[in-house]
Parts: sequence; C-alpha cells; structure tokens
Amino acid sequence: MTDAFDPSADDHPAPDQGLHARICDLIRRDGPMSVAAFMTLALYDPRGGYYATKDPIGAGADFITAPEVSQMFGELIGLWLVQSWLDLGAPDPCYLIELGPGRGVMLADALRAARVRPQFLAAARPVLVEASPALQAEQARRLADAPSAVSWANALDAIAPGPSLIVANEFVDCLPIRQLVRACGAWRERMVTLHPDTPDTLMFALGDPVPDAQAARTPAATADAPDGALVELRPGVDQLMDAVAQRPGPTRLLVIDYGPPVSEVGDTLQAVRRHTRIDPLAAPGASDLTARVDFQALVQSAHSVGLETAGPYAQGEWLLKLGLEARAAVLARAGADARRTAAQAIHRLTDPSEMGTLFQVLAITSPGYRAPPGLGAPD
Ligand code: SAH
Repeated sequence: MTDAFDPSADDHPAPDQGLHARICDLIRRDGPMSVAAFMTLALYDPRGGYYATKDPIGAGADFITAPEVSQMFGELIGLWLVQSWLDLGAPDPCYLIELGPGRGVMLADALRAARVRPQFLAAARPVLVEASPALQAEQARRLADAPSAVSWANALDAIAPGPSLIVANEFVDCLPIRQLVRACGAWRERMVTLHPDTPDTLMFALGDPVPDAQAARTPAATADAPDGALVELRPGVDQLMDAVAQRPGPTRLLVIDYGPPVSEVGDTLQAVRRHTRIDPLAAPGASDLTARVDFQALVQSAHSVGLETAGPYAQGEWLLKLGLEARAAVLARAGADARRTAAQAIHRLTDPSEMGTLFQVLAITSPGYRAPPGLGAPD
C-alpha cells in the first residue's frame, strides 16, 4: 500500500502537488508529453497516480458505477456468466477474470446469483486484475466468503492459459488515450506542455505529425476531416484484444462502458472530482481521468485479431432483456421501501437520461461459439 492512502483518513486528499510538480519538471527536462503519457502518470504513477493511491468509488467519493447503484446489476451479470459458460461448452476449470473490479461489488453479487448452477461455481477460478492497492484490499475483504476463492494477477497476460470468461465494467474508459488533431491535411499528436507566461500551469499544444495508418486505428479519422478535428486512439484496446486472442481455449470478454456505438470526432477527455467535472489538466492524480470508449474501434480491433463480436447494445435494453424487471419484482416483495429502491435503480440503469444509452455492452468471443445472452448472433 502506498503512503498516500490511509483508509481512516479523508479519501479526497488535496491535489497531489508532488505529481503536478514532477510533471512540470519532466516537461521542462524532456519537452512536451503526449496526452497518453500525461494520463498514464495521472492515473498510475506509483507515488501520486489516481488509481495507484486512492479509493475513488462510491456515493461519497468521486464517482458511482452500475454495480454500486444496485445489486441487480451484478446478479444479472452472474446469470449472464453462467449462460456464457454453457455457451463455451461448460469448461472445468474456467477462469472468471474481472478487469478493474473496483470494490468487488459486482463479482460478489454475480457469484451469489451464480449459485443457481453449482457446477459453474465449482469450475470457476475468479482472478482479479486491479491496479489500486487500496481497492485490492477492499476486494479481499468483500470477497473473503465468496463461494469460489479469488486470486489476483497484474495483467491478463500474466494469467495461466485456459478457458476464460472476462468482464470489464468501466475499465476500458481509464485506459490512456492519445489525441490527434487535424492540421494542414495531417494528423498531429496533441501534447501537454507548460504555459509560456504562467509557470507551472499546464496547457495543450500540437506535436509532430503521425502516419495516417496509425490514425486509422479509429474509424473517426477520415481523410476529409477539417482542420481542428480531434480524434482519440486507445493503444490499450489493441493490447487487450491481442491478449484475449492469444489465450488458448475458449474465451469471452464482456465490455461495459460509456461511449458511442459508432466512432465520433471530438475531445472526450474528462476529469471528475467529487461527482463534478473539472479541467483535465488541473489536478493530475487527484481527479478521475477517463475518455469515452469508441465501441466501433473496439469491434474493429477485435476483428483484426480474429475474434467475433456481438453488440454493442445499449445497457438499458440489454439489462431489460436479461430480466431486470423480473428481478426487481422479486426484490420489491420485501416492502414499499424495497419497491421504491428497485424502481429507482431500474431508472438509473436503463433510462436514456441516465446510464441506459450512454453505456454500451459488447461481447467479444473466440470464433465459433453460440451467441452471448442478450446480444443476438455474433457477426
Ligand atoms: N468495475 C468497477 C470499478 C470501475 S473504476 C465498478 O464498476 O464499480 C475502474 C477500476 O479499474 C478501478 O478498480 C481501477 O483501480 C481499475 N483500473 C484502472 N486501470 C487499471 C489497469 N490498467 N489495470 C488494472 N486495473 C485498473
């Protein structure tokens, strides 16, 4: 655990002046850094990075996620996993991998719901991939009594080969992005640099041109884009697809995240602190930095390594197809309060004004298996 985290203290420390100052020093020494390099330091720097040092999730923290909204979310994921396991031929053993599990709430709810199929629980080998030592500790506490014993790994490719079901809710949005800006008929890297007049103030600037073939990793980077157009690339997505494709044995990955089903032009880098958006350069290490997930680019990347995809589907529609309302009706039997809570959760998770259409669901599977539940036939 790092010295910056103390669970008994305020989990919203002041902006890490140390990290901000170190970023300024790095720029003075080496010149401007890419948006991806800035994001990597802001999120993962071992001494001051957001995920390396903080516990950001929950009502009193910086943001709240679907599993934290309602137990129904994780429970439906649990049933989805059981059906997917059957689709893959009921392999035993089968890794059950979660990327970025946060406080472990989704997996706890999923494993509880999966008790309907004891053979699944007997086969499941839960492995958590988590960057934050604080969150790892929280996961260990929450999952101490889980029906299948959990372990941790540093990365997907550090997990031994074998059939795998992988889930990633709000994980891809924190993988660092590169930003490219169209200028005079070329794509140029967007950089973070120091303001010339105000010392130790960070600002954006244009860097070197990048080859068109690199920009083409997102379908949004069209050759007729006007000057000033901005597109985003996420190298971590290609690495993730490679890691999935290279796993021997059937593998299915479920990605749930916020972002458009079809690639869009535009700057989507956002920083959130205590449920409020702030300037993305203002508080590296003390704000949650994410960017919308380009689902079309994800599909393109999956297909380029031979994987099959189903979706993306809007989260709201998908949860309703999986039986959200039936589950809510069961919970509502506990009384008026439970009924109100369930209705509020359905609204929050499915309504287009909330998470219903902003969040998309995509399944990625080794070739040749049955379509995943709620997502239609693979392409
Ligand atoms: N899935 C959880 C948490 C989402 S927040 C939920 O829905 O509540 C993002 C999570 O991903 C956090 O647990 C964060 O620490 C983790 N994370 C971010 N980048 C990571 C990386 N590169 N490797 C492993 N975990 C990462």
